[in-house]
Amino acid sequence: MTKPILFNLTDAELTQFLGDMGQPKFRAKQIREWLMRGAPDAASMKNIPETLRRDLDSVAQMLPVKIIKKLQSADGETTKFLLELNDGETIECVLMRTTYGNSVCVSSQAGCAMGCRFCASTLLGLKRNLTANEIFAQILIAQWELRGDKFSDKPIRPNGDANNNDVSHIVIMGTGEPLQNTENVIDFIERANRDMGIGWRRITVSTCGIVPGIERLIEWGRPINLAISLHAPTDELRSQIMPINNKYKLSQVLDAAWRFTDTHNRQLMIEYILLGRRNENGDTELYNATPEYAEKLSELLAGKNCMVNLIPWNAVDERDFASPSGNAVHRFQDILIKNGIHTRIRRERGTDIGSACGQLRLNNAK
Ligand code: SF4
Repeated sequence: MTKPILFNLTDAELTQFLGDMGQPKFRAKQIREWLMRGAPDAASMKNIPETLRRDLDSVAQMLPVKIIKKLQSADGETTKFLLELNDGETIECVLMRTTYGNSVCVSSQAGCAMGCRFCASTLLGLKRNLTANEIFAQILIAQWELRGDKFSDKPIRPNGDANNNDVSHIVIMGTGEPLQNTENVIDFIERANRDMGIGWRRITVSTCGIVPGIERLIEWGRPINLAISLHAPTDELRSQIMPINNKYKLSQVLDAAWRFTDTHNRQLMIEYILLGRRNENGDTELYNATPEYAEKLSELLAGKNCMVNLIPWNAVDERDFASPSGNAVHRFQDILIKNGIHTRIRRERGTDIGSACGQLRLNNAK
């Protein structure tokens, strides 16, 4: 028999569940506080009676995800988790300790149907959407990693200070396309803001360009950040590496994205993976990272309020691309800067702990 998941219960249901175990009403509040800190089991809940901790662990599960692998980068800045959902599906989430706070990259789907040619997360297809609780549980896993059972008088209220042991930023950029699971993602963001105090402007949704999903975000009206996975400045090139471009063309995607950012006076994030290809001689030729494409990208974004994140490709064994040289990456960036486009090279984090997004999950399935 599957155990009930306490995090999934409403307050009334949790009170009822504990009442059936002979517990007073205040116990539900105590346990909810532990769940909101990401306690992985009842044994960690120090202020409840020992017998109850034992009983609870035998009859219930705390969170709707559990850690099956945890990798820590040598510099201590990045922790990558492979998590198992209750039906055995797996997802990844990543905690990054940065100079501006503690950021968590969460998954919104188990697998992905979008088929981007450079990505490991889509190789096994889409398994299913995550519930809002399953997305939320990923930030609780990170929160427990940061603070564990160390209670402080201060409630969990992120302040963006790197020394603060709380999650302060969320990026929905892990496995899956968030705007194929829009309502659960919106539900999750509302709760992260309300229950964890994470400000709208510290939450970023990244999409490969689902236009109706961007329109839904405009209608929803919260001033979060939007990131577009662009990866190519022409429809011809983009359609070769991102099948979604056959449905929503670049101009449609950017038009919807500018409408979103104009509504909230926000800067649009543009994600651009720099790809190379090996030729017959084994040399790397530039693919979407040539100076010509840098010029085309500049034309596309001229005069717009945006920041281009250049991401040198992180090798995926199953994919037929190569990383461009450092020189090629800097040349691409220099052209954007010369043309007045804000840009930065995304610092590679945790390269010693398992590589590209989706690779950990893929290796686990082999
Ligand atoms: S890059 Fe994002 S949208 Fe594209 S296949 Fe990977 S997870 Fe899906």
